[in-house]
Amino acid sequence: MECGALAPLPSRLMTEIDAIRDAILTDAPPDEIAALSLPQSFRGAVVREDEQDMFAGMPSEEKDPRKSTHIDDVPLPELAPDEAYVAVMASSINFNTVWTSIFEPLPTFQFLKRLGKESVWGKRHDQPYHVMGSDASGVVLRVGSAVRNWKPGDRVTVHCNHVDDQDPSAHDDSMLAANQRIWGFETNFGGLAEIALVKANQLMPKPAHLTWEEAAVNALTNSTSYRMIVSPNGAQMTQGHTVLVWGASGGIGAYACQYILNGGGTPVGVVSSPERAALVREMGVEHVIDRKAEGYRFWKDEHTQDPAEWRRFGKKIRELVGTDPDIVFEHPGRQTMGASVFVAKRGGLVITCAATSGYTIEYDNRYLWMNLKTIKGCHFANYREAWEANRLIGEGRIHPTLSRTFTLEQTGDAAYEVHHNLHEGKLGVLALAPEEGLGVTNPQLREQLLPQITLFRRHQG
Ligand code: NAP
Repeated sequence: MECGALAPLPSRLMTEIDAIRDAILTDAPPDEIAALSLPQSFRGAVVREDEQDMFAGMPSEEKDPRKSTHIDDVPLPELAPDEAYVAVMASSINFNTVWTSIFEPLPTFQFLKRLGKESVWGKRHDQPYHVMGSDASGVVLRVGSAVRNWKPGDRVTVHCNHVDDQDPSAHDDSMLAANQRIWGFETNFGGLAEIALVKANQLMPKPAHLTWEEAAVNALTNSTSYRMIVSPNGAQMTQGHTVLVWGASGGIGAYACQYILNGGGTPVGVVSSPERAALVREMGVEHVIDRKAEGYRFWKDEHTQDPAEWRRFGKKIRELVGTDPDIVFEHPGRQTMGASVFVAKRGGLVITCAATSGYTIEYDNRYLWMNLKTIKGCHFANYREAWEANRLIGEGRIHPTLSRTFTLEQTGDAAYEVHHNLHEGKLGVLALAPEEGLGVTNPQLREQLLPQITLFRRHQG
């Protein structure tokens, strides 16, 4: 099949997928959803194993997700007893979609092979294609024999913590489980598809006041920011804390700002344009630094950092809020970590979940130990944390940051935008939903919260 072209679909498949979509769009009752026939295959956004070296030797920025992402017809995998099939109405692009589609830091097929060796069910994931996507909103189609809390017809969002709960290491904080994986990144059959395969303990109720695409963009980034800012497993921010947020209008940063404001903290948002500064201010963030306008050059050259620039940055933060940050919300990595460690308050915390600009980090350790600072690693969220974060969305206390919506066929284009930092907040992807704006079952709450829910789209213009 030609790269990027749709596989010709047998008419039987079209009928089944269409019937699933129609049943959801017409609010069919649970028994009708349960009785729907399942297709033998479905369409998904995939990367292919035989193309994993296609960008070898190229600089990261030239690796193009539009070339590696295909919409292929994928066989429906068998359902394990603790799993559910979800008819995906919408999904989203996360930065891990970028990593998967540019095969960095390594091709994800290595993760699938490792999972394939673990069990007979794990073996299903080891395929020459990888269905990407770590977010989804949709409707449960079928559940496995061991699933108690969910049934066909349930409207859900999906979080991406994939854990085998028969492993003892999964029973304190499941993010510490030896076999913890990110669904759709380290497992196959992710959310950028018409049907997703998920564990039942990834399911959460869909917020009723949101459309499918608004509900689809939150779980990965919102839960990550909840754990980083709110949870005892993260920074456990208390009221009065000052928090420096890199990428304050980005995927995780915009949720972090909301948690800081809700919890009585003072965010200092860093962005890279006047438009982003205006957007973040409208979210309620009073103190914003435009890093491009200020012209910070934390690295003199590829190997040498410039402490004078760290100092200039720290001085700017003090001018704005009169103090050093108690917490630094860190994820750009190599480009910013030296500055983050330097500007954190004496006794303060740098909480980090990523290293977008490079994962070999350099900082001056004297500023860490002499000032009793801490660097803490953080990664996604356990089920309880994801559930709490989703509950706050459902109650309208945290809002989606959807700025634009793409079709499934445009997944590569959307990943390209995120790769090149051209987007605001989150990008949604429609799967079975034929258009934006569907899926709302609590229009009253929606009406009340419309300005907040649509903030990022209004700024996108
Ligand atoms: P995103 O939507 O692309 O936002 C990142 C923001 O960071 C951008 O808006 C940009 O803002 C800023 N930024 C980018 N490069 C920068 C640099 N060199 N220096 C300073 N700021 C920079 O991505 P995201 O969804 O927020 O994810 C951010 C990172 O976290 C990614 O690496 C992702 O893989 C990771 N992540 C990890 C987890 C986890 O569980 N461990 C979960 C979610 C995300 P400005 O240009 O406006 O400053």
